[in-house]
Amino acid sequence: MDLFTLKYGLFSDKPDLLHNLPSLQKMKDRFPRYIKRAERAQMMGRTIAREVLLPKVLELDTKCQKDPSYVDWELFKELNRRKALTGFVPEKMGGLGWSALDCFAFIEESFAACVGISAWYLFNLFGVACAFVEFKPEICIKILQDMVKAQREGKPLSFAWSITEPSAGTDAEDPLAMAKMKPSAYAKKVSGGYLINGRKQFITNGDLAHFVVATICTDPTRPAVESMGTFYFPTTTKGFSVERLEHKCGHKAKHTAALVFDDVFVPDADVWEEPGRGMRHTREILSITRGVVGMLGLGNARGALERCIQFASQKKVNGHRLIDENWVQIAIADMLKDIMILRAKCYDFAIALDKLHVFCILENIPAKAALKVLPESLLMSESLQALAKSPWLSKAVSRFKHSLVTDETMEYFASQGSALKVAGTDLAMNVSSRVLDITGIEGMAYRYGMEKIYRDAKASQIYEGTNQANRIDLFMQEIGEVIGSC
Ligand SMILES: Cc1cc2nc3c(=O)[nH]c(=O)nc-3n(C[C@H](O)[C@H](O)[C@H](O)COP(=O)(O)OP(=O)(O)OC[C@H]3O[C@@H](n4cnc5c(N)ncnc54)[C@H](O)[C@@H]3O)c2cc1C
Repeated sequence: MDLFTLKYGLFSDKPDLLHNLPSLQKMKDRFPRYIKRAERAQMMGRTIAREVLLPKVLELDTKCQKDPSYVDWELFKELNRRKALTGFVPEKMGGLGWSALDCFAFIEESFAACVGISAWYLFNLFGVACAFVEFKPEICIKILQDMVKAQREGKPLSFAWSITEPSAGTDAEDPLAMAKMKPSAYAKKVSGGYLINGRKQFITNGDLAHFVVATICTDPTRPAVESMGTFYFPTTTKGFSVERLEHKCGHKAKHTAALVFDDVFVPDADVWEEPGRGMRHTREILSITRGVVGMLGLGNARGALERCIQFASQKKVNGHRLIDENWVQIAIADMLKDIMILRAKCYDFAIALDKLHVFCILENIPAKAALKVLPESLLMSESLQALAKSPWLSKAVSRFKHSLVTDETMEYFASQGSALKVAGTDLAMNVSSRVLDITGIEGMAYRYGMEKIYRDAKASQIYEGTNQANRIDLFMQEIGEVIGSC
């Protein structure tokens, strides 16, 4: 059976953002560019999904099952050529100038094709999220310039974000659980910087990364939260190594590595957050990325349902199509309804990121004016990096960023993000399981990809904080204060 024959979902040839989210029509009247660009991003995601990702989904799953270090560099080059990794970079610097809304419209399609491949190339942007959360101008400018250069040269530039340790998963990312954290890695102050020793594990793209952002404790005598800092270093630094790659149940195309730090030296200039502020850094990133993982769950659920609809419209039972059965239509409608409701919340989150979180920075007057006035040659130059290094500018920009994204804003997004992460990944689990009930054993055949989506869904309930930990986080944020628990 050739699975994708209906012009539906990933295979529709028109954007359906406004059909799915009719309230955006009001916004389109007022901000036509904002909505039209999101529609274009959706179609770009759909085209890439059909032309680049879908033909590779099972091939990569199989190859990475045999060899978890396998990378399809040809696929990478094609994604890079189409600017799938630099969409968010301002247009004047060589990107597509995407807002959070555009990014979400694009990633929904990519995740619906394959969350494993998408997480491999998109979670690379964790490094960029880490930099923008810090908003140290010289770092942000250098990372943006390097990403654009790599894109133009067709080369990879990867970042990993490492918080999980062999002795601390939930404990390393939840402020309450952290009280019990027993670190497996420490950074010791030495002249001019820190020496890091210890281990991290389950780190996405840890083996492919050119740079690592790591949250690490500095003082074994104090509670972890009081001494955790954020460190940034190139993986060429002496003492850094990859211990192993994990064999996982899903997300096989995305590498997950255990890392070893053996006297890794990080100069003071690359300490992004001083000891004691590492948890804040983690929370702010999670306040963005949990929403992204909610969208991943939505895409995963959509991918499962769309394959099921395609399958059921071709499979014959009792002399008619499986999809003509009333019980199948009711089950599909039930799943569609959950997807529709969750999608509305995901895009609400994206628009809120544009208005209130880091994405709003580039829309504010100083950044917007700089992007408008400065010529492209200067924006891509080392002189701009040198200028951005000046301590007064660094301080002013950092203050500006923290005035826009306050601690309250960050915690608000963390709880919204937790709700999305749990709702999205649980929905992916439910839908990917339910479609297998509909298609039966034939639909479970590896070649249709639905069984793979089920495995992918399971893995996504665990990272970015387990869904249990996210539920507790959500409860504490929304109800804790009311009942006097935090
Ligand atoms: C595919 C994949 C990719 C990943 N990528 C990254 C990455 O790039 N960077 C990174 O740093 N990490 C990454 N992780 C790690 C991930 O963030 C952790 O697995 C996650 O935080 C859970 O930690 P743990 O596995 O150690 O489980 P534990 O924290 O040991 O939890 C085990 C069980 O106990 C429960 N539990 C623990 N503490 C509490 C508590 N206080 N309250 C209630 N329940 C609790 C959990 O919910 C869970 O059910 C990745 C994981 C996977 C599977």
